[in-house]
Amino acid sequence: MNEISRLNASETDTIAAFATALGGALAVIRVSGPEAVAAGQRVWQGAAPLASPPCRTLRLGVARNAGGVLDGEVLAVYMPGPHSFTGEDVVELHCHGGALGARLVLLALLEAGCRHAEPGEFTKRAFLNGRLDLTQAEAVADLIGAQSESALHLANRQLGGLLGRRVRELDEGLADLLAEIESRLDFPEEDLDWEPTASLRAGLDRAGDACRELLDSQTEGEILRQGIVLVLAGPPNVGKSSLLNAILGRDRAIVTEIPGTTRDTLEELAHIRGIPVRLVDTAGIREANDLIERSGIERSRASIRQAQVVLWIVDGSQPYAGQAWHPGEHTFAGPVLVVANKCDRDACDPPAGAIPTCALDGRGLGELFDAIERLVWQTPHHRESEVAVSARHGRCLAAAAESLAAAEAALDGEAWELVAAALRAAQTELGRMTGRTADPDILDIVFSRFCIGK
Ligand code: GDP
Repeated sequence: MNEISRLNASETDTIAAFATALGGALAVIRVSGPEAVAAGQRVWQGAAPLASPPCRTLRLGVARNAGGVLDGEVLAVYMPGPHSFTGEDVVELHCHGGALGARLVLLALLEAGCRHAEPGEFTKRAFLNGRLDLTQAEAVADLIGAQSESALHLANRQLGGLLGRRVRELDEGLADLLAEIESRLDFPEEDLDWEPTASLRAGLDRAGDACRELLDSQTEGEILRQGIVLVLAGPPNVGKSSLLNAILGRDRAIVTEIPGTTRDTLEELAHIRGIPVRLVDTAGIREANDLIERSGIERSRASIRQAQVVLWIVDGSQPYAGQAWHPGEHTFAGPVLVVANKCDRDACDPPAGAIPTCALDGRGLGELFDAIERLVWQTPHHRESEVAVSARHGRCLAAAAESLAAAEAALDGEAWELVAAALRAAQTELGRMTGRTADPDILDIVFSRFCIGK
């Protein structure tokens, strides 16, 4: 149990919610809390009571309310606390999907004394009951939101506790240093066998390095969690929509021979070399008189402003001069890759530095993906890091590193009180990361990212 859980452990009600999205073949309802079995048993009836041994076994029964049977085939499972996901008694009812039946089963559970769960409340309880640390709880949301295999691997390693373990080891190292310094404070007169100052400094250095090493993974962490926005822009009719379709490997955008037909921006999720990418296809940028086209072009410019990378696509078979990317015309300071499309045409003469592609047969896409990968990771062949921290973790780590630097400065002046205070401050920050010392506000922010039933 962590510090917060002790504060919250006083009373818990029993919560219930759908664990599956409505409209599927199955609807799974999750119930967690001290009354889970009692409430579940009021709604579900099978040959034997829900809690009869063996537990963690699916049993067939029916779900009913006062009016009669709501679902004639419901599989129920009882997972007793504390060895359940939430650490509490958990009951799951697997009902037939469909609009009405499962909803009425949930309603019957609420009438039987359950409260409808808040978003993320099951995972929050798992955290409060010490089943997961905060980095693991966050990994549950990362796992659900993962847009690429790399993001999925990262989330799974974090869910397995790798990041939390690293931070706890760091925290333990600081605790040892603090104990040493506190004993100097407690017995200042005695000439005990103190650890030499140089070795304390080495300990602080190691901790600082470990913080910075984790901090260095933040860019990767944010890219894998949030993805990057890649905007396809350029003059009309150069093949932007065709390229979007080629990258996606399916027809999503409408392709026509008539210039100026893409009037609005279109966004699609894809992944390129393991990088989750939000691909935005935009209206062709040119001087336009038509009001609708002009507003489409305005949106294209707005998308460019929000991009991480712009693919400026031109028709490689036409002179570049009339199609060139002019930085002064756009509010964008990030990287721009010039793509010379239609390289299948005889007249194709791509400008220097441009990547020749053919959206019709996929030629050049590999080179384009290589270039995107290089831009994003700043290295040609990126290897997945074992851990990659989020922006929230980054803030904690930066603050911890700052406190460690302050501790080292105080160590030079042998200001032991200050060293101890700075070490405690660093520990508090690491505790915020794993949830050991996280305040309720942080928890609200973390768990508000979750969906209901998780
Ligand atoms: P956008 O207006 O820039 O989105 O361009 P579209 O994707 O709608 O394509 C305009 C026209 O160019 C269509 O007729 C496409 O079939 C054609 N096109 C797109 N890419 C290529 C290409 O690589 N080679 C050739 N030859 N034609 C292409």
